[in-house]
Amino acid sequence: MRSPIPDYLAEVLDDCRGGDGGAVADYIPELARANPERLAIALTTPDGATYCAGDADAEFSIQSMSKPFAYGIALLDAGFDAVLAKIGVEPSGEAFNEISLEEGSGRPRNPMINAGAIAAHSLIDGRNAEERTERFRERMSLAADRELHYDEAVYTSELETAYRNIAIGYMLRNHGILDGDPEDVVRGYIRQCSLSVTTRDLSMMAATLANGGVQSATGRRLSGDRAVRQTLSVMMTCGMYDAAGDWMTAVGIPAKSGVAGGILGVLPGQVGIAVFSPRLDAHGNSTRGVKLFERLSDDMGLHLMEVPPVGRSVLRGHDQRGDTHVFGLQGVIRFAGAEAVVREVVEADLPHREVVLDLTRVHGVSDVARRVLLEAVRRLTLHDDKQVTLVDPEGILDDPDAGDGVRPRVIASLDEDRGTPAD
Ligand code: GLN
Repeated sequence: MRSPIPDYLAEVLDDCRGGDGGAVADYIPELARANPERLAIALTTPDGATYCAGDADAEFSIQSMSKPFAYGIALLDAGFDAVLAKIGVEPSGEAFNEISLEEGSGRPRNPMINAGAIAAHSLIDGRNAEERTERFRERMSLAADRELHYDEAVYTSELETAYRNIAIGYMLRNHGILDGDPEDVVRGYIRQCSLSVTTRDLSMMAATLANGGVQSATGRRLSGDRAVRQTLSVMMTCGMYDAAGDWMTAVGIPAKSGVAGGILGVLPGQVGIAVFSPRLDAHGNSTRGVKLFERLSDDMGLHLMEVPPVGRSVLRGHDQRGDTHVFGLQGVIRFAGAEAVVREVVEADLPHREVVLDLTRVHGVSDVARRVLLEAVRRLTLHDDKQVTLVDPEGILDDPDAGDGVRPRVIASLDEDRGTPAD
């Protein structure tokens, strides 16, 4: 069988092909030479499958889509405190190149507008623009799983007309947000924006964020959970500039656009998406790119605020086997799932002493769910005088210490414990 997914993507591209409008960016002369007809889409899953349609291997410059990644690298290199001291996390509701500094502190409002992105670039490890951009290029090559290069023509072209960004650099220097030579920092930022990427590369970078910082094809960890959460949060609130509210309501996933016509989006835990079409709307976002995302979000139910209830689905069943109560759990357990399990245990009013929580089919437990489950184990043992056993062949609850000296027995399988198949 051939996977239906590439065919679906090709169909979506065809449907959106005609809906173009706006114009290619021309304030960077080299971008004005882009072929405006190009159109591409790519999806990458957290376990490393990539699907593409259209011109997904055509290269263009990453531009502002570099901003979330540079911010993530700055968080790793300089630490949260240093980054937050210099760059805010409030949406500015203004255009990307707005100067937008916080009154008094001079802090840029967020890392997705140029002022904040220039400050973020300066917090990447390196003594000068060359070292910082080389570090950026290396990290991004790991995320794309291929060696990336800078587009020298785009870089020099933007540098020649970068008066506004240089002015922003001097403003930041004046407020003590940048140290050292502001022109060196702005040069580095502009070079960072000229990284040459394909739509396929971007979908793999987006999937690395969807996967909590682990590159989905190579399994290599490139960022920490907290840095990814921080990055996705600012993408969600600030990634689409003055169209952020429209984007949140219509599409509903964290995203970032670039003036060369790319948009990347991240649905945490599910998929990284990238699209490319060079003509831009009045906000500086790819016209057809926005349409593609709206269509995908509708068709595929990607909106973050549209989540099916998960609580009950975690409880596979509750039955009594001889003198033992067995609660079968499944899937990924988070707060709502743990609450559903605990409620079932509370309401069941168990007559027998032996209680088993069977975690064989559980493949993930969040921190709060783990605490709720272990607290239930502690109460069952100390208050209700139950004997609790966990069936946990994969060690999902890893060292289950319930506190007050309560350590439930852990076995690998119910059958193994009884020496006979469970009835
Ligand atoms: N390099 C571009 C600039 O600073 C990036 C802008 C963008 O993609 N929105 O103007």
